[in-house]
Amino acid sequence: MNLKNKDLGQNFLVNRDIISRIVSQIKPEEDETFIEIGPGLGAITVPLASKVKKIIAVEIDSRLHLLLNSDIEKFKIKNIKLINEDILKVNLEKILEKENIQKYRVYGSLPYSISKQIIKQFLTYDKKKPKDLTFIIQKEVAMNYIQAPPKATFLYHMSEIYSHKQILMNIAPKNFRPIPKVESSLIKFELKTKTDIDNPEQYIKFVKILFTHPRKTILNNLRTLNKNLLNKSKFEHDNEITMILSKRAAECSKEELFQLFPIFLQLTDRA
Ligand code: SAM
Repeated sequence: MNLKNKDLGQNFLVNRDIISRIVSQIKPEEDETFIEIGPGLGAITVPLASKVKKIIAVEIDSRLHLLLNSDIEKFKIKNIKLINEDILKVNLEKILEKENIQKYRVYGSLPYSISKQIIKQFLTYDKKKPKDLTFIIQKEVAMNYIQAPPKATFLYHMSEIYSHKQILMNIAPKNFRPIPKVESSLIKFELKTKTDIDNPEQYIKFVKILFTHPRKTILNNLRTLNKNLLNKSKFEHDNEITMILSKRAAECSKEELFQLFPIFLQLTDRA
């Protein structure tokens, strides 16, 4: 049977050494509960379950769901619960409540086409925040979350306000079947208990605008909002602001963007 469904980003981990390195990089503890996204055939689910209290694994593909469920029953693994749903549509709050989960961590080898959406979904989830997220994603995308100024991206700044990030290891294509075209990385986001800034949704909108034309200066990107209101001469008395406005967004630190954010709020207020 061909198990691969192309649209669902199904590349299965097959190298046992890599699988055990991933599990040890996750640093599981026996009293922990994990939500896993896309368990597939259980390459990580099963070894991880032997080290933790419980895994709730959400798999969209009903064929894989059935196969893994029958393995779990066959091997009498009691601490894995499979849910056959789309992680982008699942009611996480309901699951956490039903399973009586107070603290949890998240793991997943993510379908690359929706990895950014899933990461955003969990970073911004404000009801019951997970402790951390450990994901296998495309290496190039992982770098976009990690690279600091002067090579920062929208993904770097967006994720900065919610988390501390690090790349735990890189994973070569040969460790998956079918073999993907791209390199992968295991990336960890440790969630901050409190977001760095109030009004994070507006801040993300602001950062998005700053990166609309990444080669243009911040001033020119902001001008697309309202040409008349944002005149550099207005800030001539404030050297620091003038200097930040003349930079490109990729070059700016988080603190510099925080300094500009109130100006953006004023502009959008008046627009
Ligand atoms: N964890 C397995 C492994 O490492 O071998 C499979 C990883 S594979 C890269 C991605 C998995 O996510 C597949 O099992 C796929 O069916 C599942 N998937 C894709 N889209 C999904 C979605 N929206 N919600 C839940 N699972 C999804």
